[in-house]
Amino acid sequence: MKYVLTIISLLLAFNFSKAETKLLIHIFSNSQIRDIDFEVFSGKYEVVDTSGKVLGILQKNEVLQIRSFGKLMLLTKNGDTLGIEEKVELRSAGFLNILELTPIRPAIHSRVYDDDMIIEIESNSSLKIINNVQLEHYVAGVIEAEAGIGNNEEFFKVQAVSTRTFALKNMNKHEEEGFHLCDQTHCQVYQGRCSRTDIMIATSKTAGQVMIDSEGELISAVFHSNSGGQTANSEDVWSKALPYLRSKIDSFSIGQRSYSWTQSMKKQEWLDYLNRTYNYPIDDLLEQKKVLSFSQPYRKVWLTNGISLKRIRQDLHLRSTFFNISTEGDIVTFTGRGFGHGVGMSQEGAIKMAKIGYSYDYILKFYYSGIEIIQLDELNIN
Ligand SMILES: [Zn+2]
Repeated sequence: MKYVLTIISLLLAFNFSKAETKLLIHIFSNSQIRDIDFEVFSGKYEVVDTSGKVLGILQKNEVLQIRSFGKLMLLTKNGDTLGIEEKVELRSAGFLNILELTPIRPAIHSRVYDDDMIIEIESNSSLKIINNVQLEHYVAGVIEAEAGIGNNEEFFKVQAVSTRTFALKNMNKHEEEGFHLCDQTHCQVYQGRCSRTDIMIATSKTAGQVMIDSEGELISAVFHSNSGGQTANSEDVWSKALPYLRSKIDSFSIGQRSYSWTQSMKKQEWLDYLNRTYNYPIDDLLEQKKVLSFSQPYRKVWLTNGISLKRIRQDLHLRSTFFNISTEGDIVTFTGRGFGHGVGMSQEGAIKMAKIGYSYDYILKFYYSGIEIIQLDELNIN
C-alpha cells in the first residue's frame, strides 16, 4: 500500500507531462479473483517483488499464473515457482508491452491490457489487480468500452478530451484505496486495450488535451443523451452553479434519436400523486387546471409553487424534465423533449455537429461555456 501511495503522491506532486502521465486503474474491480493467468501478448515483462528484485522474465507468449494462497500469492511459470509474495509488479521491459489476462477462478473472459500491472493480496484473500497504464492508452480504452454511439473521428476526439479531463479531475476518487480510478461506471468503464485504429488515431490527435474553466481548473465534463433543444443550468439539477454549465439553445439535438418522447397516465393517478406527495389541493379546480395543462417553450424548473420538475421526472421515471402536459378525458399525457439531465454536452447533438463538419474543439466550446482546451503539461495540479 505504501508503495502505491508513493506513486500517487509523486503523480500529484509534479506537473503532468504528456508523455509520462500514468494512471493506476483497479481492473476487474467488481470481481473477487483468486486465480489468474497473465500471458505476454507483445513485448517483454519483468516480474518484480516489493524490494525491486527481479523474480523472472516473461517473453512473448509466456504465461505467469498467480494464485491466491491465504495471505500470500503463489507465482508460477511453466509449473516452476517464481515466488510466494504479498505483492508483485509486472514491469514493461520490451517494445509495445501488452498482456492478456485470463481469470481462472472465477472464470471470466480474457481481456488485453497495455503497460504494467501491480498485483497484491487483499485481506479477504482475493487479488487486487491494478493496471499502471499510460494516460493515452487508458483514454482510448475507455472510448472503445463506451463506443457504440457516433462512429465519427471528430466525435471520438470530443470523447478523448472529455475522458482525459474526467480522469485527471477524478484522480483522487480512490486515493485511500491505493489507486486512482476503478474500471466500472462509478468512474469510467474500462475493459482494457483499445483495438480500433480509428479511436486510437482520434485519441493521439488530441493527445494531452484537457478542458479548463476560467479559473484554470479542470472542468466536470458532464453529458447526457439529448438536450431536447436546450441544455440546462447545473444549479437547476444539482444546486451548484458552474460558469461553464449554462443553459443554451441547442438546435443540433432536435430531431435526433432520443429527441422526443411521450408518456401517459390516468388523470386520477396523476392528481393522487400530487396530493399524496405535495399535499396539492386537487379539489380546487383552478389549481387542478394548472397541473393538467402545462407547457414549457423554454426549460422551466418548477411545475408550480414548490413542485420541481426534477422530482416529478424521478418519481414517474420520465426521460427528461423538458415536457408539456395535456389532458384528454381521463388521460394525462406528458409530451417531452430530450433524454437525461440536460446539463453540459448533449451526446446526440455533438454527434450531429461532428457529422456536419464542426471541429471537436468548437463542439466542446459550444456545450461548455467559456472553457479553454490546453495541454495537460500547462496544467498546475497542487
Ligand atoms: Zn470508481
